Amino acid sequence: MGKVNKVLFVIFDGLGDRPIKEFGYKTPLEAAHTPNFDAIAAKSVCGLDNALGKGIRPGSDVSHLAIFGYPMDKYYTGRGPIEVAGLGIRLQQGDVAFRGNFGTVDSDWNIIDRRAGRIRVVDEFTAAIDGMEIDGVQVIVKPGTAHRAGVVFRGKGLSANISDADPHEEGKPVMEVRPTDDTPEAAFTASVINKFMRKSYEILDKMEANKQREANGQLAANFLLLRGAGVYPTMPTFEEKYGLKACCIAGGGLYRGIGAFLGMDLIDVEGATALPDSNVVNKFVAAKKALQEYDFVFTHVKATDSLAEDGNFEGKKAFIERCDIAAAELLDLPEDVLLVITADHSTACELHAHTADPVPVLFCAPTVRIDDVTEFNERAFVKGGMGRMVGADIMPEVMNIMGKLHLIGA
Ligand code: ZN
Repeated sequence: MGKVNKVLFVIFDGLGDRPIKEFGYKTPLEAAHTPNFDAIAAKSVCGLDNALGKGIRPGSDVSHLAIFGYPMDKYYTGRGPIEVAGLGIRLQQGDVAFRGNFGTVDSDWNIIDRRAGRIRVVDEFTAAIDGMEIDGVQVIVKPGTAHRAGVVFRGKGLSANISDADPHEEGKPVMEVRPTDDTPEAAFTASVINKFMRKSYEILDKMEANKQREANGQLAANFLLLRGAGVYPTMPTFEEKYGLKACCIAGGGLYRGIGAFLGMDLIDVEGATALPDSNVVNKFVAAKKALQEYDFVFTHVKATDSLAEDGNFEGKKAFIERCDIAAAELLDLPEDVLLVITADHSTACELHAHTADPVPVLFCAPTVRIDDVTEFNERAFVKGGMGRMVGADIMPEVMNIMGKLHLIGA
């Protein structure tokens, strides 16, 4: 009998759902025609999973971390470090990282537009304020997609226990950042960030590129709004934790960020957009190719979640069917590959929101003890051999199937 050496790990974001009246009270996954997924389920051991446990409605960031074995109470300090890692900034222990938005403010720092008129490219603005040094703290600013950026403060004695500057509402003024605890580190960090906001505003507001935008009737990108502060924790990489060389295939910034945060290599795939038009076939083909070089290939598909967030149940069903066609690529994996398919949480079309309903999880390899499940959906998986799982059970099960678990006792 062959041994499992490699893992292809696919997460369909927000895949689980609730019964939809228009589908005769079936979920989008039950209503969808999914012959390929059904064939995979028939060769798998299946179950239902709550990433953070029963009755907990997870965000995508913390549910992914839980599934990969990084509990949020130990490793999640804010969204900043995760998103920034995805932009290609190699974080160091003690860095404080933020997500940023280029916005437009008036001379009193009242917010006119939080996205600078949905500016599409911010590279020249990030370049203008990248590399500053404030009271011995280095500031790294890198562009993200559209109006977004990542900002890292690097130096001694920094803390993420500070308030947000972004009031999250237009017409309101940018807020001064304040320490949220009594430590000198938090007070120092708040002071550095306030100085950074002042200096960067002065640079951005005077930029020729902004004068040009205003002359063209566009809003100036004259302020970088910071939010989601988090400190980069001391943590093992995925490879250090499991001994598996890992890569990440994802279109969405957050998911690329999760991969990079865990030390996975990022693989770019043409047409991977994180939108309903994303080329899922290309992703699966790239994932199979990556298995030649990597032991663990994390592949993320986003639109199952975003369509449900929009309440678009027909769109979600149609997208699942497109994913099923792409899943033909997953039918003929080499014998030493374990295929895991799951989701980070359910996203209910009727609520336009994540729910605590469990999601399908399957483990497919020639050596797993398959069950009687022959359809890929929430209802069928109730009868799966894995029963109910939580996120923290999944990687240990992967390691079990690979024969890599340490023996407890004698
Ligand atoms: Zn999600």
